[in-house]
Amino acid sequence: MELQFLGGASEVGSLGLVVRDQGRTLLFDYGMTPTDPPEYPRPAPVNIDAAFLSHAHLDHSGMTPLLSRLPHARFVCTPVTAEVGELLTRDSLKVAKAEGYMEPYTPDDMKALRSRLDAVPRKGTYRRRGIEVEFHSAGHIPGASQFLYRGEKDVLFTGDLSASESRLVGAAERVETDVLVMESTYAGREHPDRRETEKRFEERIEATLARGGKVIVPAFAVGRAQEVVLALAHSGHEIWLDGMARKVNALFRRAPEYLRDARRLYQALDGVTEVQHPADRKQALRNADVIVTTGGMLDGGPVLYYLAEMYRDARNSIFLTGYQVDGSNGRQLMDKGTLTIDGVTIRPECELNAFDFSSHAGHTELVEYARASRAKTIVLMHGDRREQLAAPLREFAEVRLPETGERFTV
Ligand SMILES: [Zn+2]
Repeated sequence: MELQFLGGASEVGSLGLVVRDQGRTLLFDYGMTPTDPPEYPRPAPVNIDAAFLSHAHLDHSGMTPLLSRLPHARFVCTPVTAEVGELLTRDSLKVAKAEGYMEPYTPDDMKALRSRLDAVPRKGTYRRRGIEVEFHSAGHIPGASQFLYRGEKDVLFTGDLSASESRLVGAAERVETDVLVMESTYAGREHPDRRETEKRFEERIEATLARGGKVIVPAFAVGRAQEVVLALAHSGHEIWLDGMARKVNALFRRAPEYLRDARRLYQALDGVTEVQHPADRKQALRNADVIVTTGGMLDGGPVLYYLAEMYRDARNSIFLTGYQVDGSNGRQLMDKGTLTIDGVTIRPECELNAFDFSSHAGHTELVEYARASRAKTIVLMHGDRREQLAAPLREFAEVRLPETGERFTV
């Protein structure tokens, strides 16, 4: 059996894994990296039989519309992943256009992809022309799946993984396999205790409000914004929500089986005021205690409007809740204390804080997860510090650290 990464082996982003086995060619994820300029994986082989999408985040899904141009590739994922993925890819097309980059696919490709979709429900099994792939929950975000391919050997592809439950989704299922292809985003790093993080988050919000300020919480639209809203559900604060997260909420409302506690999420969302039109933003600035909005890395979206209005007032706070990639505005803010909006660099006077609401497994969780899989071969991907994770895994398995483009047998 042969494996080949088209991208996302030694880096976080642009993931794509080809598995060739018994005359079949399968693809797992096909993402892009929304950097400036964007980065893309290598071209997918034309003879792909089926492409499996683990979850909707762009680094996994961003290039899937291109697969519609292949002669007979089916496109397989959970129904909610298909819907949220389409929302994100459509948005990334808009961003490419706005920033003057080549658009890697067209709206027609997206439509054509929909006609190739074989939606598989939660915990279902995909069977077609001798291909058998089981879906197992990956935690991470609603609809995220791990895939167990039943071939000459069993291969488990984790996609992104959260080993413990969050407020939004349950923990990843433990699955036994021969070959484990595992993400390693947090290799060498641990997360702080989530309850402690939430406590500090609430304390800093209270302190901001006590001095007459407001809090802006930049958050990713899929997963993070909902997790933050859940954490604030019983705070009694006036919460306003803006940006693409609103559309994602509507999709999550239709997919309760993928949520840890659907009723709790719906109640939390009902307690939030959504900004329906850009004209409502002034009202949000007047009335809100906390504004949760996209983009999570401050590179676009309504967050820039709010920051431009709020940055001069030292009573206000900016609370980052997600990973800030190198080259992003969020990273610039953390490293240099400055932001660039419409080509103008500003230095916010506000309190700046970062909170770890990550939905990826930490280092020790990844080691325990890999051990429980009983895999004899572990392939690490989607990480820029894989070596730090490889060392403890070598105590119980053979560990492979492939580079992008390399073909290797397992
Ligand atoms: Zn993800």
